[in-house]
Amino acid sequence: MSVKGIDHIGIAVKSLEESIPFYRDILGLKYLGIEEVPSQKVRVAMFGVGEARIELLEPTSEESPIAKAIEKRGEGLHHIAYSVESASAEVDSLTRKGVRMIDTTPREGAGGTRIAFVHPAASGKVLTELCEHPKVEKEN
Ligand code: ZN
Repeated sequence: MSVKGIDHIGIAVKSLEESIPFYRDILGLKYLGIEEVPSQKVRVAMFGVGEARIELLEPTSEESPIAKAIEKRGEGLHHIAYSVESASAEVDSLTRKGVRMIDTTPREGAGGTRIAFVHPAASGKVLTELCEHPKVEKEN
């Protein structure tokens, strides 16, 4: 694997509106806005913190994986995302090493990213995401 850094930390919340003030007003993180990601049935609020980001995830449907996570374990830490140059190359490389993946091909994430999740059974129960940014990045 070739990990460039921690891209973001995903936190499952029931309500963005109720959760945003803590991160924006109390912690004073840079609020980057809200985006809906229909493929994952979530609304996402992003905050900048140094080179990394905090990603709050609110389910938009009962079938959302985030709704299921909150049902099982309550709100809180959901996943760690590592930034990689090529999500598909890393998925191939992990698959060749016999690492079980949730996503055997990368899919669309927030902000035009390509993402893939490693199966928690292969990562000590820490849900692990690989995150590739579009090549025309750095808008801020
Ligand atoms: Zn994420």
